[in-house]
Parts: sequence; structure tokens; C-alpha cells
Amino acid sequence: MDLFRIAFVRVGLSDLVDIAAVAFIFYKLLMLMRGTRAVQMLTGLFLLFLASFAAYWLQLDALRWLISNVAPVGVIAIVVVFQPELRRALAKLGQSPLIRGFLRGMESGTLDELVQGSLKLSQRKLGGLIVLERVVGLKGYVETGKIINAAVSADLISTIFTPPSPLHDGAIIIRGSTIVAARCTLPLTQNPRYRRVLGMRHQAAVGISEESDAVVVVVSEETGLISVAHQGRLQRKLNEKALRSTLVGLLQEEKEQKAA
Ligand code: ATP
Ligand code: MG
Repeated sequence: MDLFRIAFVRVGLSDLVDIAAVAFIFYKLLMLMRGTRAVQMLTGLFLLFLASFAAYWLQLDALRWLISNVAPVGVIAIVVVFQPELRRALAKLGQSPLIRGFLRGMESGTLDELVQGSLKLSQRKLGGLIVLERVVGLKGYVETGKIINAAVSADLISTIFTPPSPLHDGAIIIRGSTIVAARCTLPLTQNPRYRRVLGMRHQAAVGISEESDAVVVVVSEETGLISVAHQGRLQRKLNEKALRSTLVGLLQEEKEQKAA
């Protein structure tokens, strides 16, 4: 069925649907990649694409041979390099309201204990790294630490992070109202902007928030300042009120999606 013609090209309804679908996918991909290292990779890929175009056009046979042989390997390399992003994108796809409906947000009692625990660390200038698991499972990271499986409490949080407690290094991971593990090792951020200015603890907080939908509370040992990492971004210098409202905001978002 033709809707209209542009010059000698017939444009049908299916063409419009086709174009809209591809545009939508590209839009979503660009949104997903915004602010991640994928942007730099994309620039590189674009240059490679231009080079291969030039190689064909100018009949540079050796270059053409090289590119055509490297390209299939490149596809595998992209999957490997972008594994965290792909995992996050697929996880997002799976976050339909129906699936989310089965998942509980954090109970307000647990949230209070978490906020009070973070404040205790901050007041005593003890370094803390607290990961809140959400939809994306963090089993792999739980396994890098020691299993605890204890109810979240401010006292337990401050006890764990008080040196020379054998568990004070690394991160604790909270699932629901349970501290699942402590002394966990997290991935460091891939964002060059953060790598230059942040210490390891804060890089790890941003890193896990890039790879998953986790919300991370970090307390600095040097300054006692509290920060929250989410989706690859770090909000710094939070006081009690700001910390609480940031966390509630993220939980609210979860509730609204559930209601949708
Ligand atoms: P602070 O402001 O508290 O000093 P920082 O961001 O400057 O934090 P560092 O001083 O480098 O970070 O903190 C080192 C601590 O961070 C380590 O003792 C360890 O507990 C934690 N840490 C370092 N790397 C990781 C990692 N990959 N995963 C989890 N925790 C880590
Ligand atoms: Mg430091």
C-alpha cells in the first residue's frame, strides 16, 4: 500500500513503521549510552567505518583486506567490551511493571537504620561502602566477600566498618532488609572523568552503579562526607536530610513504576 511518493520512491505504511522503529531503537541506544564510555567507543567505530568506506572507494586493497578480516573479530570484541552495558540494557528490558510488581522496595525501618548507620560512620570518619541491590542481581559480587545474612541495623553497619574489624574493607551488599555480605570487591568506574579525581572507594561505588541499577552509599574516611552513586553518577556532600530524600526519591521511583 502506497501512502505517498518522494521523487520516484514509493512510501508505504510499513516503511513508516519501519523507519519509526529503527529511529526509536537508535534513540533508546543513544540514551542508554549517554555519559558512558560507550560514547568514546562509538567515535572510534565511526572513524573505522569512514576508513573502511574510504578503503573501498579508493580501492586501497591492503586496507580493505585488513578491515574485512578484522571486522568479524571486532563484533566479538564489542560484545566483550560492552558486556556490562549489554547486561544493563537487557536487565532494563526485563524491568517490566509486571516483573517489578513482585519486587519489594526497601522498608522504611531498614531505610532509617541505613541512614543512621551512614551518619554514625560520617561522624566518626570511618570509611563505608554500602550497596543496595535492586533488580539486577549482584550475586557475583556477593561471592567476592563474606556471607553475613543479618538484618540491617545502624549498629551492625558501624560495627562492620570500624577497623580493625576483619570485614571493614570493601563493600557491604544489602538485599531487601538483609545485609547479605561484607568485604565485597566491586568494579571500578570506567568513566575517565571520575577515575582522575576519585579515590578507590568512590570509584568502586560509581563502578557498581554503572554495571547495575544498584544505589550505593559511600562515606569518606578522609572527610566524613556522604555520597550516593546511582546510574554512574555521584551525588556528593549529602547531609542527613539530603541523604534521606535521595534514597526515598529512588524508592519512590520504584513504587511509581510498580503502580504503572
Ligand atoms: P576515602 O575518602 O574514604 O579515603 P577514597 O575514595 O579516597 O575514600 P581510598 O582512600 O582509595 O578511597 O579507599 C581505599 C579503600 O576503599 C580500601 O581500603 C577498601 O576498603 C576500599 N576499596 C578499594 N577498592 C575497592 C573495590 N574495588 N571494591 C570495594 N572496595 C574497595
Ligand atoms: Mg582516600
